[in-house]
Amino acid sequence: MNPFNHSKRDNVPADTVQDRRGPSPRSALAGMQPYVPGRSISDIKAEYGLERVVKLASNENPLGPSPLAMQAVRGLLSDMHRYPDDRAGQLRSKLAAKLSLPASGIIVANGADELITLICEAYLEPGDRIVTYAPTFSEYAFGGRLMNADTIAVPLVDSFALRAEDLLSEADARTKLVFVCSPNNPTGTYMPKTELEHLRSRLPDGCLLVLDAAYSHFADAADYTDGFELLRSGARLVVLQTFSKAYGLAGIRAGFAAGPADVIAHLLAVKEPFNVNALAQAAAAAALDDEAHLEATLRTNAEGRIRLRNGLGSLGIRSVPSQSNFVLANFADGAAHVYGELLRRGIIVRSGAGWGLPDCLRISVGTAEEIDLLLASLSDILQVAPVTPCESDARRQADPSKRQV
Ligand SMILES: *Cc1c(COP(=O)(O)O)cnc(C)c1O
Repeated sequence: MNPFNHSKRDNVPADTVQDRRGPSPRSALAGMQPYVPGRSISDIKAEYGLERVVKLASNENPLGPSPLAMQAVRGLLSDMHRYPDDRAGQLRSKLAAKLSLPASGIIVANGADELITLICEAYLEPGDRIVTYAPTFSEYAFGGRLMNADTIAVPLVDSFALRAEDLLSEADARTKLVFVCSPNNPTGTYMPKTELEHLRSRLPDGCLLVLDAAYSHFADAADYTDGFELLRSGARLVVLQTFSKAYGLAGIRAGFAAGPADVIAHLLAVKEPFNVNALAQAAAAAALDDEAHLEATLRTNAEGRIRLRNGLGSLGIRSVPSQSNFVLANFADGAAHVYGELLRRGIIVRSGAGWGLPDCLRISVGTAEEIDLLLASLSDILQVAPVTPCESDARRQADPSKRQV
């Protein structure tokens, strides 16, 4: 018997071991719900015996990673035996220069997800509150639960508009963190700059505003802000960014936060020393220099978003105007059926059920070819021929079962 293998005792498989001695997990774990990721391409290929699967479920970059990032990773492979830079110094300075912010106001992490956890670990005591919207990114509530804090989720009504007043009315003396995701996942709606400034300036003193700007690159509304200009003017907030979406590096894990130097120091204090691997640091730094790849990504997304929303509209499907790289579409009571039928045809989208939107599917903006494949499959599944926009308005008005989202 291998003395180091504690999962097996006398060759009894671990899951049948009756000996349950040892500490109980923290009470917070009882309330933790596992993150539900988008289905993977390999799973769906195997399950349905398909050659090609199109994944429009996780808002990944349809053009792939930056070629410069791939080259940087290849160039570093022979140095993999070395520990990475614990502060990601090179990447941090590069970001600071690019954003005209001091390097002391930036922390690099293993994806924006890690930053959310670090912020919660740094600031939340049991019984504290975080305030955010619903539906939104699930990781804010995860971080809150992890620290035994309460999450207050203010429902988005009225076309999913992100209104400051709704958060302000919930932010009390126990509220340490307010999370705003803009553009918001999964709705694609955003908080205008004046609204964000209003929110920040009216929050109680002991409360920190966290702006998750994971999708900021895709926003083109004139009154959108990614928060960096507020930071430059000295405002106290934390801005989260990721290399997973516009930069196409979701698999290698890198993100960063910018904020006041004292806040960043608190986050550095709770992070593990080597949280960002060397390949990720190099890939992210190279991707920042790849302006051609970013431009192509943004052009593909801007065109694709219109193509997708118009295509859905011509099939009589309503969708929410999006400032992001995904579109939330309302299939009324057919959403679950459509989801399953798309999977069978090798197209993965995200069900809205986990956000309490069982009528909706969230569809990532793919390439033009991927969007056309999706629309052709939808046309087939719904047994409707595409119609012109005015016809589709008429069809919608005639069908009261289709709800506006
Ligand atoms: C994808 C996403 C992130 C980024 O996650 P990473 O951990 O950097 O991959 C952060 N916030 C939101 C709202 C997201 O959708």
